[in-house]
Amino acid sequence: MDAEIIAVGSELLTPDHQDTNSLYLTGKLNEVGIEVRFKTIVGDDRERLATVLRSALGRSPLIILTGGLGPTEDDLNRAVVAEVLGRPLVEVPEILERIRARFALLGRPMSENNARQALIPQGAAWLENQNGTAPGIWLEHNHATLILLPGPPHEMAPIFDSQCLPRLERLSAGERIQTRVIKVAGLPESEVDRRLAPIYQRYQNPTTTILATPGGIEVHFRARAATAQQAEALAGLLADQAEAELGEHVFSSRGESLEEVVGMYLVMKQKTLATAESCTGGLLSERLTRVPGSSNFYLGGAVCYSNELKTSLAGVSPAILEAHGAVSKPVAQALAEGIRRRASASIGLGITGIAGPGGGTNEKPVGLTFIALADERGTEIREFRFPGDRQRVRWLASQFALEMLRRRARGRSKL
Ligand code: ATP
Repeated sequence: MDAEIIAVGSELLTPDHQDTNSLYLTGKLNEVGIEVRFKTIVGDDRERLATVLRSALGRSPLIILTGGLGPTEDDLNRAVVAEVLGRPLVEVPEILERIRARFALLGRPMSENNARQALIPQGAAWLENQNGTAPGIWLEHNHATLILLPGPPHEMAPIFDSQCLPRLERLSAGERIQTRVIKVAGLPESEVDRRLAPIYQRYQNPTTTILATPGGIEVHFRARAATAQQAEALAGLLADQAEAELGEHVFSSRGESLEEVVGMYLVMKQKTLATAESCTGGLLSERLTRVPGSSNFYLGGAVCYSNELKTSLAGVSPAILEAHGAVSKPVAQALAEGIRRRASASIGLGITGIAGPGGGTNEKPVGLTFIALADERGTEIREFRFPGDRQRVRWLASQFALEMLRRRARGRSKL
């Protein structure tokens, strides 16, 4: 079965509010085998909403509207739905009673406007809202099912999960969707596609999507089958072939983040880590410590932004700083080796670079970054030219530092 979502609210058309409800609903619908084919965001405007709803009725068997069920003038959903379907609005005494009781419980007077929320289109069923005043509405019209849900996510989600999803699951019996995701580091998107295309082009089910994300390249395999187990097996079949093709570039096949994988390897190998960060200002440290249990391998780090602190915290010699400048191979090396020594860690990691937007020269442009990794086998130093703005350069530096750690902890000496 195909679905369509209409998110209603003028605030969703501004840069300040995002329509997260439709993402939530799409995830849940997919779990019961329903695909979302159209999605619209429309402001609080009677005519525009009516136009969108008429188009939806002409093409989608399941239409879910969120928002616009509040007590104010601009909350139009129930009135517009009633008008477009040609059904009068009728008051449901039980809803009115519940709204009254809710206000009494909160010790607040109920405004007359709230009585509007007890109106539903004739022939509809109402869905109890335990977290707010506006009930949801379920409506069958000709061959379409319409569901109206309140806008606040903490009201919308429980109503949908408990009162809509089980019914939709019965309606859509016969198909389930499962997705497997593998995450790839150290290869550009185009190369991932070049290597995987001969494999995924053989299949129409699962479908394959390759996405570049800040956390690496993700490959999504989305399979449909009669049962969830069969769909999972189908997605797994293709994911396993892709993993075999990409080899050690795949760092995650069960949704783990790069920092989680690094932590897992370091704990497994009983290694400890200390970091000395300049241009990333502690970002690497923050990412490492996001993972529960990071105290089992991460000793800590120094944010040494100034030359003085590079010397006092990581033992970088002033002569090296003077001779090569703070952003240089020898300084990255000295940061990694110095922090390793001072923290008595198995691995020391140093990062120095020019995040921009200022500070670049022809010889040392913005984005130039050196990352060094020191352990008992020696020190590996890599030079990068990261593209993008300050935040992207800093993020990429932390990302490649983690990837160097993953490779080393896994047993490979070089990228
Ligand atoms: P209320 O009774 O609170 O007025 P409502 O059903 O009328 O509920 P709206 O007034 O449209 O809902 O939205 C209320 C709040 O819910 C918005 O300020 C916004 O924060 C949130 N919201 C609405 N729609 C969405 C959406 N699609 N995704 C995420 N948040 C939303």
